[in-house]
Amino acid sequence: MNTLAGRPIDRRRFLATGAVAASGVAAAESRDASSAAEISANAYHEAQRDVPIVGRADVVVCGAGPAGVAAALAAARSGADTRLIEVGGCLGGVWTAGLLSWILDSGNKPGLMREILARLKKRNASARYGGSVAYDVEQMKLLLEQMCVEAGVEIRLHTRMVAAGRDAANRLALAVTESKSGREAYAGRVFVDATGDGDLAAQAGCRFGYGRRETGQLQPMSMIALLAGIEPDEVAPFVRGLAEPAGEPAPKARLLAEMQRAGVSPSYTRPTLFFIRDGLFCLMANHEYCVSATDASAITAATIRSRGEVHRLVDALRRLDGVWRDVQIIATAEHIGVREGRRIHGLYEVSRNDLITGARHEDAVCRVTFPVDVHSTDPKRDKGIMREGVHAKHYDIPYRALIARDVDGLLLAGRCISGDFIAHSSYRVTGNAVAMGEAAGAAAAIAAKTNRLPQDVPFSEIDRALRVGSGRQAENTCVADMHQRTA
Ligand SMILES: Cc1cc2nc3c(=O)[nH]c(=O)nc-3n(C[C@H](O)[C@H](O)[C@H](O)COP(=O)(O)OP(=O)(O)OC[C@H]3O[C@@H](n4cnc5c(N)ncnc54)[C@H](O)[C@@H]3O)c2cc1C
Repeated sequence: MNTLAGRPIDRRRFLATGAVAASGVAAAESRDASSAAEISANAYHEAQRDVPIVGRADVVVCGAGPAGVAAALAAARSGADTRLIEVGGCLGGVWTAGLLSWILDSGNKPGLMREILARLKKRNASARYGGSVAYDVEQMKLLLEQMCVEAGVEIRLHTRMVAAGRDAANRLALAVTESKSGREAYAGRVFVDATGDGDLAAQAGCRFGYGRRETGQLQPMSMIALLAGIEPDEVAPFVRGLAEPAGEPAPKARLLAEMQRAGVSPSYTRPTLFFIRDGLFCLMANHEYCVSATDASAITAATIRSRGEVHRLVDALRRLDGVWRDVQIIATAEHIGVREGRRIHGLYEVSRNDLITGARHEDAVCRVTFPVDVHSTDPKRDKGIMREGVHAKHYDIPYRALIARDVDGLLLAGRCISGDFIAHSSYRVTGNAVAMGEAAGAAAAIAAKTNRLPQDVPFSEIDRALRVGSGRQAENTCVADMHQRTA
């Protein structure tokens, strides 16, 4: 007799229930594996087993948000065999599973960002508002799949990266995954961590920063919803992109007052209604404070709480009648929006000081024009957004911030690159995530094909590949007043 959580367990009954109760061969295999394992009071000691290596690629990208998709596209277009591993059921991350609908800091980004915007525009699935672009989430899902298939990226959805294997020389060699197909491994020459939370790098043993340096507090998560049943001309005073001269904060204040008139107070005091196209709006009115990006129970509770709140807010608006009489939620995000997780240590850390001085680098992969945008980490003090006293100038993200410091053969892209809390609040938006992913993918392909480590590839080679691969040119022009925008 073994025990689980202090209770005695009948071993035969335990094996006959739950996951191992599946029928046929799979059940028989599970029973064999389980019979070799031990269960003690507080732990289940898994039996050792061989994990099949089911794929080998030049470049393995984990996570298919804006950064991961861009990395995979750039690597595949550079001629590398490329694998893209994503836990969700679609490509795009916060862009799609998160229903974001709004792209920031894309105006000065050539290459893939420009191509994605042009292809969305061609299918009438986007609109520009000042320096921001609204897009149709469903069309984005389809477009990203089409682009990856066209480029020859081997996509694996519904698959979570759960462990990493290094070789004796401290070089990342394997990403281990779990899915309906069981536990599998993918071998690669170079890896890109684009999981947002830095899961691959953490599993590989990289050190990282997390939240505010002093307290570890993270920015809040937010549940985004798509709305229909309201008319643009009727709700214009409450809508970002319709009412304001670019960036004017009044629509948010008016929407907050409207919600309060309806008897509800949103957990985010700068609730934002975005106009996507006729018949389609996006609402961001929720903050889930102090939720760890690496605690599934906390994320589950935040998801349930936030979805309930968003429905309560919209129900209350509908009860006001008038312009809100037919407002309805047509979708809440499948995944609550996670603003920040691990910031993996790289060969360079983008810092608050870089924003203040407007840092320039020889190995710049992009220039950020978005301001400091810290969503409150302390709801007792504030439930809005803070600039933390930093007046940010435009600054560069160097290639070195994309190279993991502690493990070889690993690049970083998107919000998990190497930076401090303040810098992350600025560079994390998706125009920059795409540019970082594109550079990481191109670099990974060169490193893999020439059997070098990413840090041994001179940036001039990467820059050349980026220009040739996607008609990229050095463009770092300012597109809007960066101190008025929020994400
Ligand atoms: C509520 C909210 C509002 C925002 N507003 C804006 C805005 O208006 N405009 C803007 O441009 N940006 C905005 N941002 C910022 C932006 O969305 C993110 O910073 C950006 O999506 C980062 O891109 P990424 O590819 O690094 O990460 P993500 O978009 O988070 O993508 C990470 C991907 O990796 C996958 N993944 C994670 N772990 C694993 C694993 N272990 N194995 C396999 N796959 C994994 C995830 O499923 C996901 O698809 C907002 C973010 C949030 C949360």
